[in-house]
Amino acid sequence: MAGTTVKTEAVVLRSIRYGEADRILHLYSRTRGRIGAIAKGARKPKSRFGGRLEPFFRLDLVLHEGRGELLTVTSAATVDGYPRLRASGPALDAGARACDAVLRLLDSTDPNPPAYNLLCRYLTILDDPAAERAASLETALSFRLKLALAAGFAPELAACAQCGDAEHLSGFSGAAGGVVCSSCEAGSFPLSEQAHRFMAAAIGSPLAEAPEADEAALRQVERALRETLEHHAHVQLRAAASI
Ligand SMILES: [Zn+2]
Repeated sequence: MAGTTVKTEAVVLRSIRYGEADRILHLYSRTRGRIGAIAKGARKPKSRFGGRLEPFFRLDLVLHEGRGELLTVTSAATVDGYPRLRASGPALDAGARACDAVLRLLDSTDPNPPAYNLLCRYLTILDDPAAERAASLETALSFRLKLALAAGFAPELAACAQCGDAEHLSGFSGAAGGVVCSSCEAGSFPLSEQAHRFMAAAIGSPLAEAPEADEAALRQVERALRETLEHHAHVQLRAAASI
């Protein structure tokens, strides 16, 4: 067979039925960033892939790269299937939103190890019955902030994104890409001190130790991130949680 063999670890972001018995996979890989692949015969009852080509599965893959746009899955071994995540409604929902955010924000074929490791870390936490706040809005927003950072779109939080002033930071402007001071607040929305603190603390803390904040502050954080990514990455994310 002409073409090359590619071995990589990857997480299944999306799995689509295709044709009679195939699946098209959207993968996020450790070594090649985004990969589109086809798994032929994956939906036959005795497929060698079993049930492991479903979203969230972390796989060791061997793929064949020919001339087409899609790689062909040759073999797939499970690194982690996150079975407890699959058994919990809130964890499933959070995992689906995380995979969707990766799908929208990271479409490059360049590897991005921090983004890959972050996704795997989040799935691991969502799979951990001892991690009580894993499916919380705080953790979902911490994931998004860290993902934005890994993708190169972290909001400016230390000083006014317009004029550099470090005082009187009272608003957030997606167009400016960060917090803004009271003199530069045109086009911004008010950002509470708590929301500002949450963003800085979330970026600086491990994902499993997301800071706490009240609902109003978290909504401001979500809006700040959404507007930043719309302006600078030209990407619209789904809501961070269903409520
Ligand atoms: Zn300013």
